[in-house]
Amino acid sequence: MFENKDRTDIAELGEFGLIKHLTDNFKVQHESSIKGIGDDAAVLNFENKEVLISTDLLLEGIHFDLAYVPMMHLGYKAVQVNLSDIYAMNGTPTQITVSIGLSSKFPLEAVEEIYKGIQLACDKFNIDLIGGDTSSSKQGLVISVTSIGHAEKGTVCYRNGAQEGDLVCVSGDLGGAYVGLQILEREKQIFLENPNIQPDLEGKDYIIERQLKPEGRRDIVDLLAQMDIIPTSMIDVSDGLASEILHICGQSDKGVTLYEEKFPIDPMTYQTARELGLDPTICALNGGEDYELLFTIKQADYEKLKHDVDISIIGHITEKNSGCNMISKSNVVHELKAQGWNAFKG
Ligand code: ADP
Ligand code: MG
Repeated sequence: MFENKDRTDIAELGEFGLIKHLTDNFKVQHESSIKGIGDDAAVLNFENKEVLISTDLLLEGIHFDLAYVPMMHLGYKAVQVNLSDIYAMNGTPTQITVSIGLSSKFPLEAVEEIYKGIQLACDKFNIDLIGGDTSSSKQGLVISVTSIGHAEKGTVCYRNGAQEGDLVCVSGDLGGAYVGLQILEREKQIFLENPNIQPDLEGKDYIIERQLKPEGRRDIVDLLAQMDIIPTSMIDVSDGLASEILHICGQSDKGVTLYEEKFPIDPMTYQTARELGLDPTICALNGGEDYELLFTIKQADYEKLKHDVDISIIGHITEKNSGCNMISKSNVVHELKAQGWNAFKG
């Protein structure tokens, strides 16, 4: 990936030199960032807002495969998926810390690419990088991102607030990231068998981008605020619709009815899933990594968002004893089961 000529050994810089080199271009913007990189701890001040903190750990070979994930995308995605958790609380992320473990196979140029992606995500979403940690690793690459954000008191959305009769809403479309991953996996296998064949990703840009370059839905959090809607519950779709709605129902002690015909599935996702012999609905239910927001609203708020094309109403919350079900297009009731992607399986 990195030719010898543009390969700088990290040992040449040393740990402190590396940290300085990687973080020099990052400037803190938020008033709440009192102290960023450079001391034993960062110092933040959120006055009397609720403070939100979320963290993710990404391991090479478990969460990402460097055979088809470019380093810059990896940095960008690591930040985005973490910000998504703050959006899922109806909050605004403002700071991140980034910790990395690097094995000797990574030259400086590779780490620079990761930080380019991190910076792109920070610039785009107005986030301050305020610290982290750097270590060598015996095997592979490790990235951990922690994001910190805030919300006004009384506006935080938990998973446990859904009430009977609430409408179930989801932003954007579902299943694309999973189908994109299947295409990348297929091309990787073809490449391994015959390195002379170039990957055929023609016409698949949208779903490849859904997999490699997801974006947290800050716009949906802003839109809900503009519409004066506080969802009764919310979660981001990292493991697939089925798994996420079951979290909401489990924690809210409620049931749900979802309607397959209402699921937002992009035409490219649909068509590619069919080409690969996959059921597009299963991809939406169990695929994961879409990083859309799944939330419930009171029926009284329906009028406020019914015309928004980027939000689909896909069902409603029921009492617990009715269970968690999906009504298929042919009107058959299927019980929802979580088969979400799980790093511990297999
Ligand atoms: P300590 O010895 O106290 O852990 P470090 O030397 O690891 O301090 O870090 C020095 C400063 O650089 C700290 O502010 C820390 O948060 C920051 N830092 C370290 N590694 C990273 C990194 N990978 N990305 C961003 N900031 C980092
Ligand atoms: Mg340290």
